[in-house]
Amino acid sequence: MSEFDLIRQHFTRATHHTNLSVGDDAALISILTGMELAVSADMLVAGTHFFANCDAYQLGWKSLAVNVSDMAAMGANPKWTTLSIALPETNDAWLAEFSRGFFACADNFDVDLIGGDTTRGPLTISVQIMGEVPIGKAIKRSGAKIGDEIWVSGKLGDAAFALQHMQGKLKLPEDAFILCAKALHTPQPRIALGLELRDIANSAIDISDGLLGDLGHILEQSNVGAILELKDIPHSIFAGFPIGLHDENFRNIILAGGDDYELCFTAPLEKHAEIVNLSESTKLPLTCIGRVSANVGLAVLGSENEILNIRETGFDHFS
Ligand code: ADP
Ligand code: MG
Repeated sequence: MSEFDLIRQHFTRATHHTNLSVGDDAALISILTGMELAVSADMLVAGTHFFANCDAYQLGWKSLAVNVSDMAAMGANPKWTTLSIALPETNDAWLAEFSRGFFACADNFDVDLIGGDTTRGPLTISVQIMGEVPIGKAIKRSGAKIGDEIWVSGKLGDAAFALQHMQGKLKLPEDAFILCAKALHTPQPRIALGLELRDIANSAIDISDGLLGDLGHILEQSNVGAILELKDIPHSIFAGFPIGLHDENFRNIILAGGDDYELCFTAPLEKHAEIVNLSESTKLPLTCIGRVSANVGLAVLGSENEILNIRETGFDHFS
């Protein structure tokens, strides 16, 4: 199959909000009046971000989903994507599954695939995403205010639990592994939440590298600190898996495991009730886990209100 047949067969689909799509030297799009374009890119490299022999459908889904998640974190509405892919060989069955997963995610969020690049090389997937947000309404990392409450969506740690299970570092009960593997392989970007947060949150980030690291970016760019309550951080409880936040490895996974693709955001105290209502209307748990403080740094409080030594648990960059 030629490069162009491959693109036509696997990566060309009808679009919904694109003037000129795949097939020319560039795609053409129009931005609605009063909107600005949010642009982001994420690269996934075999051996670093995924196992080369992983399920192609899930890889297709995840390649786009991690990008959509960045739009959610900005309060942007994702609309267009480009896909650049390096393939060691043209495996038709693999490509069919990969594109099926990629387009399943695209359909889910009404994103048009409008172009890309296809070359031979070690399996690498580079996706760019573009979305719209009303001018001045994007939720930035730099907007956190002293006194803001800190919130997270969903539960943290499931994806990292699955990864550690696959790496033989811990053993989950079978049904727990199935649940966690779903979180790891087919993350659900929080677009509906992100759009609602435009008028609620002062700052937001999506949790891709772990709560502490990503919240750390908000704190640094906002020039503030934070106090978190360990007991309030939402996580799964697995039947037959008698480990909890008292366990250091468990705690590390919840606080720094990564691949969660939940949103962490800060909002003024007076928005608390509105956020609780939003949690109900979106059927998505939203949990207040702490407060933004004046003193720079990130403190995690344990069960007796003692400040946990995070350095000890391996997160040097948060001393
Ligand atoms: P050029 O040589 O001008 O860069 P290409 O021959 O690389 O163009 O690509 C032809 C068309 O196919 C372009 O519109 C490009 O955006 C699109 N394209 C290439 N690879 C992909 C892909 N993996 N997914 C979607 N579109 C692609
Ligand atoms: Mg090219």
